[in-house]
Parts: sequence; structure tokens; C-alpha cells
Amino acid sequence: MTGLTIQNHPCFNEHAKGKWGRIHLPVAPHCNIRCNYCNRRHDCVNESRPGVTSTVLRPRQALEYLEQVTTKMPNISVAGIAGPGDAFADPVTTLETLRLVRERFPEMLLCLATNGLNVAPYISELAELQVSHITMTVNAVDPVIGSRIYPWVRVGKVIYRGLEAAAFLMERQIDAIKGLKKHGILVKVNTIVIPGVNDDHVRDIAVKVAELGADIQNCMPMYPNAGTPFEAIPEPTPALMARLRHEAGEFIQQMNHCMRCRADAVGLLDDDKCAEFRQCLSNCSKANSTDTKARPYVAVASMEGMLVNQHLGEARRFHIWACTEDGYQLVELRDAPEPGTGTERWRWLARLLSDCRAVLVSGLGETPKKVLEESGIMPIEMTGFVQRGLEAIYEGADLSRWKGRRQGCAKGSGCSGDAMGCG
Ligand code: SF4
Ligand code: SF4
Repeated sequence: MTGLTIQNHPCFNEHAKGKWGRIHLPVAPHCNIRCNYCNRRHDCVNESRPGVTSTVLRPRQALEYLEQVTTKMPNISVAGIAGPGDAFADPVTTLETLRLVRERFPEMLLCLATNGLNVAPYISELAELQVSHITMTVNAVDPVIGSRIYPWVRVGKVIYRGLEAAAFLMERQIDAIKGLKKHGILVKVNTIVIPGVNDDHVRDIAVKVAELGADIQNCMPMYPNAGTPFEAIPEPTPALMARLRHEAGEFIQQMNHCMRCRADAVGLLDDDKCAEFRQCLSNCSKANSTDTKARPYVAVASMEGMLVNQHLGEARRFHIWACTEDGYQLVELRDAPEPGTGTERWRWLARLLSDCRAVLVSGLGETPKKVLEESGIMPIEMTGFVQRGLEAIYEGADLSRWKGRRQGCAKGSGCSGDAMGCG
């Protein structure tokens, strides 16, 4: 696969849709806002609509899945993350998936779908990873109309409701479109047309997003999902959709061939192979996401090298062990990244330990645990002899006696996961 360009993206170039396919990697199950038409059922195999997938993958499982699919379908030109939730409700997972795909498939077009609430802080990273296309759903540019669609949005631990929520979301979407365009990323705006709610507003949305520099708009008829506040609103008619697209088309190019794909869609737009690859997807979701050949070592947080007796955040260096024909051998001492750079510290650590299959620590917080796991490094919380931990990793010995017996730390209960270290 060489020299893929926008021309090879079947959603952005209608002429490519019979030749080039896309794959959606379902790694984003959570969402940070609530849309009144959304119903995400991860286990539904029969429905074909956004938000649905038969399973959810972790980043390494997604890479494995992509490798298997592309062996059979070399014409996959785009790997995208389109839910089932929002790609930036959990940016660590999304970015890790993109990073893995970019490393393994340097030519692959990368694409993301988001509601836009939390994309702005990650735009430079997306540009570095050469993400070329972003789809952002913009259903209103007037907070009053927006407040009928979004009951709440969540930012960190704060939940905004009503008008405030809609206004906040719109502000973030505007900033995000501007930022993405500044970085040369193609922006497709999806607008879900909801009769009686925003159908008279589609023209205003087109005007606004065109002014912000968005490249194309995809007006999609709302699917009245059972069990949602909008379930009784009928789907817009083809005639209404044609009129709205025509009106909006005066201001911004329109996409007319969207298939409203599932979050695990795969293949050509007109010939989805999701059913064919369902077993493969399911197998990958059960696979151990650690590649042991590429990860011969085990990292240990230890003061003197004999005992596992340091929390992840307090270790200033890691003892790197290997299993050789002559037994376990200490290979090197590796300096840990400096504290104080937030989540980036744990990502950096994951890169630093990218040849390790596990890290033995006396404790760690939820954030570093997640970052390491998603990078294919198994964090093992234990105390006692390093030897015991190595036996558990390399020989499958029982570790239960040594697990969870956290040793004295000034803070008592382990790292807070705030990336600031334990000191
Ligand atoms: Fe559902 Fe997407 Fe809306 Fe989140 S942003 S609630 S996943 S439709
Ligand atoms: Fe392309 Fe539409 Fe399918 Fe997204 S939902 S992959 S834009 S056809």
C-alpha cells in the first residue's frame, strides 16, 4: 500500500467507494455527552447504525484485528475510530490505538469521529500522528436548539446541563474546528437532522461551519432509536433530506453517500464485511494483548534490586530483567521519566518500557495502570522477592500470596495516579 491520499478515502471521495474500504476500530465505548437520539448497544449484531458494535477492543487487540483484516482485504485504505462512544471521552486509549496503527501501517489514512467536546487539547498530537480526517457532529449552532438535543455534557468531573451544556459544547466545537484546520486536518461535519428540533436550523449550521473552514458536511437523517427521548420523532423523509442538503450545499460541499455505518464497520461502503469478520473481531477481543516475543523483559520497581518494594510513581529507575538459559538475569537499570508532566509521564514510561511485558510494583494509580495496560504492559502489584514475580510472569507461577500486600508508603494507599510521584 503506497501513496494513499484523500482520493483513497471512500467517505470523502465518492469515486473511491467501490475500490477502497474502511475499517472502524471499536475502541471507544464511553461518551462525555448525552444526545437525545443515542442508544449504544455494544452487543447488537443485527443493527446497522452508528453507535453499535458487537464488541469493544483494546488498542493492541485493535492492531491485531487490523493486521488480520488487511491480510484478507489489502484495499482497506482508512482506519477510523467511530465509537461506539466518543473518541475523546478516553483520549489515552484513542491516541494509543492511533499510535500503534501509525507505527505498523505508516501509509494508512487515519480518521476519527467525535462530538468535539474534548478534541482541542489533542490536536497537535493528532497532527503528529498524521490523522488526516476528523468527523465532528454538529447538530446546532444556537444553544437554545442545542439544549433540546443535549441534556448534559461532562467535562472532567463537572456536569453541565441545559443551555449551559449546549453553549459549552458549541464553544468547544468552534475552537476544535478552527484548531484542526490550522493543523491542516480535513474536517467533515455530521449534522443529524431531527424533524421539529433542528431541521429548520441546518442552513445556519452549514453557514457557520463553512465560515470556520470545515470542508464538507454530511446531513444524516436521525434514526429514531427505541428507548431514547427522541424515539417517537419520525425519521426525516428523503425529500426533506434532499431539500436540506440542497440548501446547505450553497455554503459547504455535501456528502451524499453516507451509509450510517456501525462502530465496527469494515470493507467497502456498499459491501460491508462486518458479519464476515465478526468472529475475527470476537477472537481479537479475547486475545492477550501482550506480544511476548517483542517484549522479552520485565521491569521491576525496587530500591535495592532484590525486593519489589516501590510504588510506580516513586521509582526513579527500573531494574530490567530477562529470562535466559542461565536463569533470570538483571540486564540493566533504566531511568524513569521525571515526575510532573501529567498523563504524558505514563505514556513516556510506556514507551520507555516498550520491550517489557510486565512491570512489578508495590502499588500504582488507576491512570498509570490504564496507560500501561493499553500499551501492552501488564502492571503487577505485589511485594516480596523479585524472583517470585519473575516466576509468575515467565512460568505462570501463582502470585496470589504476594499480590496486594502493599508496603509502607508515606501516602499509605499507593499512587494517586496524578503523575506527580509519591514524594
Ligand atoms: Fe451517542 Fe455520539 Fe452523542 Fe455520545 S456523542 S451520546 S456516542 S451520539
Ligand atoms: Fe463513511 Fe458515513 Fe460510514 Fe462514516 S458512517 S464510514 S462517513 S459512510
